[in-house]
Amino acid sequence: MAIVEAIKTAKNAPRKLRISNPATLEEIGVITVTDAEATKAAVRRAREAQREWAQRPIKERCRLMYRALDVLMKNQDEYMELIIKETGRGRAETLMMEILAAADTMAWFAKRGPKELADRRVATPTILKAKKLIQTYKPLGVVGIIAPWNGPFVMGISPAIPALIAGNAVVIKPSEVTPFSGMLIQDLFAEAGFPNDLLQVLPGDGETGAALIDAGVNKISFTGSTATGRKVAAACGQNLIPCTLELGGKDAMIVCADANLERAAAGALAASMFNTGQFCCATERCYVVESVAEEFISLVVEKARELRQGTDGDQDISVMIWPKQLEIIQDHMDDAVQKGATVLVGGRQHPDLNGAWEPTVLTNVTHSMKIMTEESFGPILPIMIVPDQHAAVQLANDSKYGLSGTVWSRSEKNAIAVAKQVETGSVCINETALTFGVHNAPFGGVKDSGMGYVHGPDALKSFCQPVPLIVDRLGMKTEQNWYPLTADKFEGMQKFVKVFYGSVLRKVFG
Ligand code: NDP
Repeated sequence: MAIVEAIKTAKNAPRKLRISNPATLEEIGVITVTDAEATKAAVRRAREAQREWAQRPIKERCRLMYRALDVLMKNQDEYMELIIKETGRGRAETLMMEILAAADTMAWFAKRGPKELADRRVATPTILKAKKLIQTYKPLGVVGIIAPWNGPFVMGISPAIPALIAGNAVVIKPSEVTPFSGMLIQDLFAEAGFPNDLLQVLPGDGETGAALIDAGVNKISFTGSTATGRKVAAACGQNLIPCTLELGGKDAMIVCADANLERAAAGALAASMFNTGQFCCATERCYVVESVAEEFISLVVEKARELRQGTDGDQDISVMIWPKQLEIIQDHMDDAVQKGATVLVGGRQHPDLNGAWEPTVLTNVTHSMKIMTEESFGPILPIMIVPDQHAAVQLANDSKYGLSGTVWSRSEKNAIAVAKQVETGSVCINETALTFGVHNAPFGGVKDSGMGYVHGPDALKSFCQPVPLIVDRLGMKTEQNWYPLTADKFEGMQKFVKVFYGSVLRKVFG
């Protein structure tokens, strides 16, 4: 049974989808797919609400965000219960990935928003010292957020927080796989007292997502697969609106000869199995230097065998949120085994747990295998033994993706040198995927992993139009570059250009 099922409706009636729990297959509820007309109407209402919202001082917007944080704290158990139903995930992971991450994002932006977006004086170049430059930021208007199923609450709310603080309205399209977790976001902001229609969540499928891009929004923040990301970028191009794309990854882990192997082995599993591997910056391939490979692999295998898989709430790893993912994993696994990979742990669908793939460790893998080149998005850790860290870097960079990655070495200097050679948006050293959790760190991918940033001051400003204000300070009758442009003025200007840019003055005052 599919966990997203189309329900028969009368001709011309809105489409409906039945959503079920991926672990128990019990029905969670039915959604009505938001069609293009309703999507446009939602964006129109959002624009009305935004006009008033943008007039409010940013400190007031941030005060309301703290109230939303209070609501999140109050309702966290209720929210987690629903998110767990839709994802089949364990409690600890749900708390960390959805509640803690959302709370931290709210607290971070609510505290720093006013300072980051305050008008600020910026020094003008020497030749324009008679002018004052004030940098201001205006909200864009209505921001559309299209979210995936692997973090159904946090991936919707995370970009919404800076967008709202910056003075925008937000319309979110959650994944059809996990719409109810997405809809919690609307309930949360409504309960916190945000204006009506300022944040709306439109349940639906890909068609609703596509309609949202065409509905008159001023920006799209998209998180999802590279394939859909390309379509989103093309549609945003047609509408001439900016987009941020947080896409798939195939993050590499590099284990150097001097790594703390005990920590690296534990980290390898934390990084590859978190959220049952359904995590954009999960470690999807590992390169270990030959001299320590045997010990590292045996530690990984030992720890992988101890992982507890289930659905009782206290498990380490769970079921696949979107059962179709099992087909992709099976395909990658068959391809790897057929080309000579050795399965050390797992390697198959769980025989007794619906929709689950066993935690899997394999070796003897090469870049001719999909498991080393395509995003598997499951609890799988393929390990490749390499002669040295230089070879590891080359292989890590032999990928169409470039989201994040990890380097493990006891020498920080060595690890930083290696990390700087890795072609990704971020790298963690002796840590896993933490760049996603550190708000000051701009998070984004390169290559097929996306463009733009979702965290930090850069993300906040990406929801704004920077408006520089240039103010004259002297109030003279006229200016050298205004009419009439006489021969005298020309000579004077040329003398200035030659003296200023043709001498040491350019270094002193440039
Ligand atoms: P998809 O690309 O399938 O879907 C993402 C969202 O786009 C969903 O809401 C989907 O709706 C919607 N959508 C589908 N078609 C269109 C369209 N033509 N126009 C607009 N929107 C559309 O991704 P998944 O949901 O499968 O998410 C998993 C992917 O997300 C993985 O590749 C993962 O790596 C990536 N990801 C990246 C992150 C990052 O920060 N870089 C973080 C988390 C995940 P519907 O589901 O209803 O069809």
